[in-house]
Amino acid sequence: MTQIVRTRFAPSPTGFLHIGGARTALFSWAFARRFGGDFVLRIEDTDVARSSQEAVDAILESMKWLGLEWDEGPFYQMKRMDRYKEVLAAMLADGTAYHCYTTPEELDQIRDAQRARGEKPRYDGRWRPERGKELPTPPEGVKPVVRFRNPAEGSVTWRDLVKGEISFENSELDDLIIARPDGTPTYNFCVVVDDWDMSITHVIRGDDHVNNTPRQINILRALGAEVPEFAHLSMILGPDGQKLSKRHGAVSVMQYDDDGYLPEAVINYLARLGWSHGDDEIISREQLIEWFDLDHITPSAAQFNFEKLDWLNAHYIKQTTPEVLAEDIARRLAKRGVETAQGPSLVTLIGLYRDRASTLVQLADALEAFYREPVISEELAIQHLSEASRGALAKLRGRLADVSWEKAALSQSIKDTCTELGVKMPQVAIPLRVALLGVPQTPSIDAVLEAMSREAVLARIDRVL
Ligand code: GLU
Repeated sequence: MTQIVRTRFAPSPTGFLHIGGARTALFSWAFARRFGGDFVLRIEDTDVARSSQEAVDAILESMKWLGLEWDEGPFYQMKRMDRYKEVLAAMLADGTAYHCYTTPEELDQIRDAQRARGEKPRYDGRWRPERGKELPTPPEGVKPVVRFRNPAEGSVTWRDLVKGEISFENSELDDLIIARPDGTPTYNFCVVVDDWDMSITHVIRGDDHVNNTPRQINILRALGAEVPEFAHLSMILGPDGQKLSKRHGAVSVMQYDDDGYLPEAVINYLARLGWSHGDDEIISREQLIEWFDLDHITPSAAQFNFEKLDWLNAHYIKQTTPEVLAEDIARRLAKRGVETAQGPSLVTLIGLYRDRASTLVQLADALEAFYREPVISEELAIQHLSEASRGALAKLRGRLADVSWEKAALSQSIKDTCTELGVKMPQVAIPLRVALLGVPQTPSIDAVLEAMSREAVLARIDRVL
């Protein structure tokens, strides 16, 4: 590639950044990074009624959380109105755009008549200047819209980098309104001016924009601008093959943080949602930057798969040091009112539990009981804290009261208790787990005991005796 690659992500701030938008952002970012180019962030906020600062903040927060740092921007379309108006004026002057005084009522009449004749309803071009055509006199008191003078003949064709060749007949595209009666530019026009001014070389976006592309290409050509490459990404379906909805995980990216997913896992997951590199499933951010291309994006819809996300998250949790995870878990527990500064070392506990969790929420759930005495469910009490079990725990307590507090000796105390009572290991270890942590399963019990203090262990056993 001789040109410097420049991509952009152009969200409309009408809601949070959901997982589909995040994938578009990721692919645009990864493509720019792969080719040493620039990634531009542009906020398309011209729909004033639906845009909000809250949504802008949520988008920026999500991008930062995912680590998708941008090189330029954020640019706000609302701050670029003067520039759009300048381009509109130039187009009116050179005849690539024109004023149209057709009122909405007239348009309705035109369309009704067309339908009645069995034609496709469309603007009939009555204000479109043509050589030798006499235009009507502008009516009093009607503020005109500005329409783009779309080529009347031929077709618009581009080789989409995901979908292959796409072609539209110009006769299918009527003269698009590019400015409203109050002078404000419309969506397709702003996108074009921005992509042009920002020297975007590759437009990577959702395939819901395919129908806008021929219009945008025609406007770019009318402006004498270079037409960028386009890559339209297919949509993401839910696990059931239906359109991705909230129930499927089309929720805010930050919800994934709340639910205990690491950004690395979400990035890896999104990268594989429609793109592949051989059979690789685990792809780090660095590898993604090294490998990402548009040739291996599937043109068919990608399907969301929660199990895979969990599997990747479990992998990245294992890859993260206990020290780093401890900061996260401490924060999560603090939000629940559980203080971890006192009590067992969180780093030690994470070392014991890290391999068992698919999410950080699961990890926090498992560790909470170390800092706040758990409620033992009646079911578990009936099952595991019978008189015989409590008797065994009482014996064990006697030994634990003055054993040296390290793994080997703690393990020996449990074994000795079993030998003394002629019972098997689980008959002591399971009631002990229930008494200490309110669950029948934990990592190796001697390691769990060692991580807790003698004082806490004895107090928790006493509680059930
Ligand atoms: N603002 C548009 C959207 O959020 C994206 C436009 C584009 O990428 O060209 O869907």
